[in-house]
Amino acid sequence: MKVTYIHHSAFLVELTGHTLLFDYTEGDLPPIPKDKPLVVFASHFHADHFSAKIYDLEKTQETVYVLSHEIGKRRRAMRDVTSPIHLVYANETYDICGLKVTTLQSTDAGVAFWVEDGKAAIYHAGDLNHWYWAEESESWNKQMAGDYRAQMAKLKGKTADVAFMPVDPRLGEDGYALGAEGYFAFANAKAFFPMHFWGDFQVCRRLKESEPFGACVMELEADGQVFDLPEDE
Ligand SMILES: [Zn+2]
Repeated sequence: MKVTYIHHSAFLVELTGHTLLFDYTEGDLPPIPKDKPLVVFASHFHADHFSAKIYDLEKTQETVYVLSHEIGKRRRAMRDVTSPIHLVYANETYDICGLKVTTLQSTDAGVAFWVEDGKAAIYHAGDLNHWYWAEESESWNKQMAGDYRAQMAKLKGKTADVAFMPVDPRLGEDGYALGAEGYFAFANAKAFFPMHFWGDFQVCRRLKESEPFGACVMELEADGQVFDLPEDE
């Protein structure tokens, strides 16, 4: 499995039978294999996760779109798209292009994706995170903690081959790793890619050094970085 970090929360994942692109808005895409379908995911409509640029990708290869349902309200942008567009809702499981796609409810907007191709499992959180804001009220932060935990409980006992999760330095020293901690309280990951860190690549190293699950944290250093990961038989 080959994983390329594109920018912010966008990753390209090359599997045996599919190529997956998550939350692409900007940055250079490497050449995308033409011999298998490209499945383009967008977790929600916010500008740091969704751009109508993704609709150009169908011009160069077979493409399928998996978009959180609220993106469907922006129909003008998808007017000329001829490829299949699947608008998905939270807490559902879909069979899309031979992939099993399960969604979670984001604590921000839209959905998170758990994708299985029969060999590998990939988790992309979108903006599903334990957002901890010191300036919010205690009750807001408590509600958030409970909401996040309820979603993570649905992943109990699962292991992702690759997990992409927000590690946002804006949440401060007490908050930036809470989403990851909540995930690992219920589930596991062979490779954990931090994302949504606004160019502050240092958080990857901080996380790797400070947390008990640090061994699986991938150290991102730049946009465009490529990781070749072993695939189980
Ligand atoms: Zn975001």
